Amino acid sequence: MLPCTSVRVQHTDASSAFTVDASLFRIRSAVHELKGQANLNPEREKRVVFLTARVHPGESPASFICQGVIDFLVSQHPVAQVLRDHVVFKIVPMLNPDGVYLGNYRCSLMGFDLNRHWQDPSPWAHPTLHAVKQLIVQMNQDPKVSLEFYIDVHSHSTMMNGFMYGNVFEEEGRVQRQAVFPRLLCHNAPDFSLSSTSFNRDVVKAGTGRRFLGGLLDDTSYCYTLEVSFYSYVTAGSATPVPYTEDGCILPPVGPSLCPSAPPSPPGVPGVCGGGSRGELKGTRDEGQPLLSATARA
Ligand SMILES: [Zn+2]
Repeated sequence: MLPCTSVRVQHTDASSAFTVDASLFRIRSAVHELKGQANLNPEREKRVVFLTARVHPGESPASFICQGVIDFLVSQHPVAQVLRDHVVFKIVPMLNPDGVYLGNYRCSLMGFDLNRHWQDPSPWAHPTLHAVKQLIVQMNQDPKVSLEFYIDVHSHSTMMNGFMYGNVFEEEGRVQRQAVFPRLLCHNAPDFSLSSTSFNRDVVKAGTGRRFLGGLLDDTSYCYTLEVSFYSYVTAGSATPVPYTEDGCILPPVGPSLCPSAPPSPPGVPGVCGGGSRGELKGTRDEGQPLLSATARA
């Protein structure tokens, strides 16, 4: 796991130094605890979840979600402990650090939209993307690694709540299996909208991480784009929009998660399906069909 400090490096106020130190301490502590865990036994197959965020530098809420996930995973929450026992999480919290540093909205230092170059990234022009792709390809070729999920976190400029984009497959069984994870999110994350979740294979998205890796990895791997609104989410039974903020997506040291997209509620605590999300999944869309909105550009 890469240090989450790269998520918070964007903050330059005086308090950030303490935050960074605290995060590093927590990660070091978690890494120390992980030594000796069964899932790091070199003889066992490793089940891997690969998470990336902030390939589009202007999408700050993607970092809030990624930070919330990291804080949850290194916490003492019982679900986090079980996850650490069974799954290896590879997290790249900022795929486009130069673009973030420069304050770009969508492009890197050299003017590339990195989420259109997964097919053939250049080590010179797209170095972060090239390195991450190499790592994923390497893991995919390793018989002792099972890459189960790839999730790329973005923020959406026009849609409310959180939702997902997935891929279109010919095999019906794979289509059904791919729909399971968004349904689980819907039942456990109050902000997640199943009705806004859709699957596509638009030509213009062929160079995205979700599309490219969906074609590269086998049918035991699931690739998604996770979007959260730039603006807000509305939960079921409420008319009050709640913005995605850094504070709202970071797990407190003790107590329930404040992150609306954090992993499931503890056993025995029923989850709720988020605002506007009780609808069914949208049907698969094919090339040429319109996107959800004119600006849906993950
Ligand atoms: Zn994006």
